Amino acid sequence: MSTNRLKERLDKGPVICAEGFLFEIEKRGYMASGEFVPMVSLDHPEVLENLHREFQHAGSDIVEAFTYNGHREKMRVIGKEELLEPLNRSALKIAKKVALDSPKGSQPNLMAGNISNSNIWKYNDSQSQKEVEGMFSEMVGWAVEEGADMLIGETFYYAEEAFKALEVMKKTGLPTVLTISPMGENKMRDGKSVVDTCKELEQLGADVVGLNCFRGPATMLPFLKEIRKAVKCHVGALPIPYRTSEDYPTFFNLPDRSNCQCPSPHGRTFPTALDPLLCNRYEIGQFAKWANILGIHYLGVCCGANPMLIREVAESVGLSVPASKYREKMENHFMYGKNERIPKHMTDYGDKA
Ligand SMILES: [Zn+2]
Repeated sequence: MSTNRLKERLDKGPVICAEGFLFEIEKRGYMASGEFVPMVSLDHPEVLENLHREFQHAGSDIVEAFTYNGHREKMRVIGKEELLEPLNRSALKIAKKVALDSPKGSQPNLMAGNISNSNIWKYNDSQSQKEVEGMFSEMVGWAVEEGADMLIGETFYYAEEAFKALEVMKKTGLPTVLTISPMGENKMRDGKSVVDTCKELEQLGADVVGLNCFRGPATMLPFLKEIRKAVKCHVGALPIPYRTSEDYPTFFNLPDRSNCQCPSPHGRTFPTALDPLLCNRYEIGQFAKWANILGIHYLGVCCGANPMLIREVAESVGLSVPASKYREKMENHFMYGKNERIPKHMTDYGDKA
């Protein structure tokens, strides 16, 4: 087995992983919301490659192949099962290409293969569980063949599905990240507690355990504190950038109370009307800083992420990234700047603007 490059880097300090490809590709007009199948790797590979490059420019150390939802079950739902393998291989090849082209002066990126919640895992149903294991195995196999440096299993809300994903991933000998996503009941759907699930994942050999998706900073951080205390391995934290709360712990049922005049036709803010509930960049930066102080080194943002937020995460934990060149320079603003060239009649007008 080769050296664990992921663990070596985490031992030294923060490692950034951009996620959230689903929402960002949808916003750019290359994916149907709700259906959420990543056909973009086949239909518009240049769009996906460019988004990877933007995240890389913003400081992501990991290039995660966009195969989220690119599994056999989803492909059956849309009647395109024959495109399963080409879709996966294309996404993996694009990620590998970008990872091999890391920015000058930075450490080489790691390309990550990805598996996730299958949607058909059923508690106490060996038939469905066998099927899910097959889905994981074929995707992990393609990731290894396409040169993955590590594997990410994510967004699991069944503890046992996460254990199965890790078991399949571990067989490859590659470094493994396993992040879970408890829903609004604040526990796994098969009844296990969040912390116990993470402890068990560590026992099963995951290099990184933690949380991704569904929860914003406010409802993810309390769990992270407990997880960090309960395990010895590295911990991962990839929240959604939305203002979830104790009453609404996840984005699935998050209400818009900002006087919305035109609610979504399907009756909820998720996933197409969440925009007014976004965290600003400073809230995301503060989350990353707090997580880092706790000793959490695997950091990123999930659904709702964009390159600007990834840069914010990286800079908040002391990293300088290529996009740092363009961080805010309010001193040169035409009305709010302190630059001596800004005329007084403009700065005076600022509060009336
Ligand atoms: Zn997500």
